[in-house]
Amino acid sequence: MTVSSREQGSDQGVVRYERRGDVAVVTMNRPQYRNAQNSAMTYALDDAFYRAADDRRVKVVVLAGAGEHFSAGHDIGTPERDVDTTFDRRAGLWWDHVGRPGGESRFAREQEVYLGMCRRWRELPKPLIAQVQGACVAGGLMLAWVCDLIVAAEDAFFADPVVRMGIPGVEYFAHPWVMGPRFAKEFLFLGERVPAARALALGMVNRVVPRDQLEAEVLSIAGRIAAMPALGLALTKKAVNQAEDQMGLQTGMDSVFGLHHFAHAHNAEVGRDALAGHDARSMRDAQRNRS
Ligand code: ZN
Repeated sequence: MTVSSREQGSDQGVVRYERRGDVAVVTMNRPQYRNAQNSAMTYALDDAFYRAADDRRVKVVVLAGAGEHFSAGHDIGTPERDVDTTFDRRAGLWWDHVGRPGGESRFAREQEVYLGMCRRWRELPKPLIAQVQGACVAGGLMLAWVCDLIVAAEDAFFADPVVRMGIPGVEYFAHPWVMGPRFAKEFLFLGERVPAARALALGMVNRVVPRDQLEAEVLSIAGRIAAMPALGLALTKKAVNQAEDQMGLQTGMDSVFGLHHFAHAHNAEVGRDALAGHDARSMRDAQRNRS
């Protein structure tokens, strides 16, 4: 992968990349679909993080979502859903999922574009700040959680409703570490929206600000962090990440990835498909019928 193709990739419409002084702003750009992540977006995000990592002028990176919502999750129903498309794999050496049967395809794909990518992005050696407004749901959580800081607008809400599919949470299973085990169970059992103020009380986000001040607050924090030496920031980030790993984050996620894929396989064996017949619309309708 050459630098030029990386830069080309990160300029794709689905992700915008811009540098403002020593801060890179990476913006998911499918607002018409509440920034649902298809693989085109995942790989464009990967391009953007590579670009930010390699640019010596960039000290801090911001991850934002265009429009009303940060991200409604993985793409399970837009016209550009691209689960059967081959991309240049980057997160590991496991073979491509396209054309492989059953669980083999799901395992290879999700290991690459979900768990593997998210883990790599968590290791970006520069502070990464999530700028979250509106929905941060399921796959959206994974993107916010790999960031070092989360700054939320007052209208932000967080939810992982995939237990409705019979699946124990999204692929990047950080729930017990980012909100504590007790609340992680409530969060998953109910699958309901948790407002920004409660996420703050749980320690899952750093700050909550009025929506019209969100971007300014994020850039202000980024600017102040950028005054610190780059290596000091990289080592500090690694120190805290290592502590989190000592608390079982990595091994816990590995073991739950197995449960996650058992759930997909069970769904596929007894029902219509690996998502228990759900798509974006049925998940939304189920949520509406409860409230
Ligand atoms: Zn999955």
